[in-house]
Amino acid sequence: MKCHFRILVIGASFAVGIAVVGAAIRGEDRKTLLQYAESHDFEGLREQTFRAIERDPSDSEIYFANDAQFLARPEYHAEVLRRLEKRVTVKPSHGAYWVLAQTCERRALGAHFRTEDEKRRFLKYYGLDSDAGFPKKNDEVLISKTIEYYKKAIELSKTGWWFVDTFYPTFYSRQLVDFYSRLNRHAEALDLCKALAQQKANLSDASFLLAYGEVLDAAGKPDEAEKWLLKVRQNDHEGFERGPACHTVDAENALGLIALRRGDVDAAVEHLRASTHVEKCCHNTTKGFPTTLASKLLDKGKSAAVIEFCETVLRDFTPHADYIEALLARAKTAS
Ligand SMILES: [Zn+2]
Repeated sequence: MKCHFRILVIGASFAVGIAVVGAAIRGEDRKTLLQYAESHDFEGLREQTFRAIERDPSDSEIYFANDAQFLARPEYHAEVLRRLEKRVTVKPSHGAYWVLAQTCERRALGAHFRTEDEKRRFLKYYGLDSDAGFPKKNDEVLISKTIEYYKKAIELSKTGWWFVDTFYPTFYSRQLVDFYSRLNRHAEALDLCKALAQQKANLSDASFLLAYGEVLDAAGKPDEAEKWLLKVRQNDHEGFERGPACHTVDAENALGLIALRRGDVDAAVEHLRASTHVEKCCHNTTKGFPTTLASKLLDKGKSAAVIEFCETVLRDFTPHADYIEALLARAKTAS
């Protein structure tokens, strides 16, 4: 009995030892991957990425360290994808399929920028010189692969010992909802949202409530959309003081657009005003505020409301935001 116990203890220590050493190696390799990415050493990054794929295709840094290179270098992207697809058949896991889905999604849709300034900021963020290698149009093969791999990740994350945890199935499903929405495949996005709404935890998650409302509206169900969008504010704790912030900004913007489509301009103005009655968060102080509702209200002659909106955003959230300054100038000319 004692002997068995000792064997068990030795076995357990051995397993823990392997796990600790394994985690340390993984941690070291992940760090190296990111270092190559940050120092723009493409050759180093490439070699390290191929090693990472062989070692563990579910390592999320394979995607994160490479996303800029995937955009800039189509051949490299294809090569990584080929190696990942080969490796995942030997070492399948929900994490590996997620890395595959992310990798495919990076080049699935043609890159579009609304303005030159937006493009410039994007390139600067990724440390790229030009958009020469960017996908110019949608790639149907990559689109169907992205969907297939997300579905596979969702399916695999529901099996095994972690089935009690809904984190991964929800996380992957939410990303597939976003992807369907970008493709204007609203019926499929809606089906997934309906399934997610069966989970209690999602019903108090502001980002889910917002996504569900937006998907319903896009699917031509504004009345139902409104019900979900109105729940966002009370569930949004994204702000620096744990209060409503960027999800509420987007929800108010969506609610205002629904009101405007119904011809209720006054209600739309109220939603525009309410969209600035939020706390600061990492997002509304950096990427700023959506301007779709404000622009449409300016077209309806509501320049005073738009001036107030722009001045509030510039004063309290994003000083010197060029697109808000431009909108403010337009509103002042119109008033
Ligand atoms: Zn935020």
